Amino acid sequence: MAKYQVSYSCGHIETVNLLGPHKQRERKLEWYRSHGLCSPCWHARRQEERDRASGEAAMEAFALGFAPLEGSAKSRNTTLGIA
Ligand SMILES: [Zn+2]
Repeated sequence: MAKYQVSYSCGHIETVNLLGPHKQRERKLEWYRSHGLCSPCWHARRQEERDRASGEAAMEAFALGFAPLEGSAKSRNTTLGIA
């Protein structure tokens, strides 16, 4: 295992631990530089995607005539058996 300072495509820098053959590590580092996102940016993007999907689902439900959901996300998930 070796630690590398990676400059991600989002412009941020993080330290990562990489395992495996040297060539494989180099490929991963190149991918991080060209396409990868640092942890905070990756989490922010995932949240944006969830929010967008949730908004689209709400619009679709509204278009189909369903009443808007009420209560907190936690209480709705508990009702649905998700949480
Ligand atoms: Zn970032």
